Amino acid sequence: MIQNWFEETLYDHWRQSFRVTREITRIKGPMQDIALFETPGFGRVLTLDGVIQVTTGDEFIYHEMLAHVPVYAHGAVRSVCVVGGGDGGMLRELLKHRSVERAVLVEIDAAVVDFCRQHLPSVSDGAFDDPRTAIVIADGIEYMARCREKFDLIVIDSTDPIGPGGVLFTEPFYKDCARCLTPDGIVVNQNGVPFLQGEEITDTWKRRRPHYADVSYYLAAVPTYVGGFMALGWASASTRARTESSETIRARFAAAPVATRYYTPDIHKASFALPPYIREYIGK
Ligand code: SAM
Repeated sequence: MIQNWFEETLYDHWRQSFRVTREITRIKGPMQDIALFETPGFGRVLTLDGVIQVTTGDEFIYHEMLAHVPVYAHGAVRSVCVVGGGDGGMLRELLKHRSVERAVLVEIDAAVVDFCRQHLPSVSDGAFDDPRTAIVIADGIEYMARCREKFDLIVIDSTDPIGPGGVLFTEPFYKDCARCLTPDGIVVNQNGVPFLQGEEITDTWKRRRPHYADVSYYLAAVPTYVGGFMALGWASASTRARTESSETIRARFAAAPVATRYYTPDIHKASFALPPYIREYIGK
């Protein structure tokens, strides 16, 4: 923090700063340092080890796109697993769907869940206490290796591939996720900002291709994840869900709508269009 500015330095050639009106609280957790600031423009900003996880201003974009695109593409999601996601925002969006009967949250750091329950309740908005929710405190890679349950949707809402989140970008983890999916099941994940982290697209592609017939990406523009579009990873045993027609997605949304501020059926379809500069990273 420099004179009421919080600086996030993810790259050696670029960083971003937020003016801070108040530091709300900061704790040294057993796994990660957790801090919460109040900022003009972005609202409350949650950081883990100095890296932004969520801002109350723009989290809706990220959470809506990782939740609603696969749910409407699949068409009948009943069971979901969120790996990471300790702030509860992903659970909140997934549980908007009445079809969802069971949502398992696998978070490595109990301190994040406790901290967010206490200081950031608007993000989970009651989702931790929803009767459909089960919270498991465990490393996602170990949980998935032991898991005998099948999910219609696995959402990997992880930190970047450094620190504890690193294992959630590995081939053994993707292989176990494939085993824990129902036949039409889908895996999505946050896959970085291609303009700055293009190798994440290449690596995920290579590590998923052996285990899924359909591996792809879709895009969302999230202001705090700077550098242009953010890539959201997609993997499934078939292309059916990803290639559902616009009419089908519109009909599913009309039949079972949820309140959104970013997601629409048109944005759903458009988000799979990849510019050539991003396509270049696929199959490298
Ligand atoms: N939207 C966020 C982003 O990309 O900046 C991700 C938010 S969410 C808070 C990320 C969560 O993943 C953190 O709470 C972190 O503790 C959790 N996490 C990191 N590595 C994990 C692992 N191996 N297993 C389960 N959870 C993990």
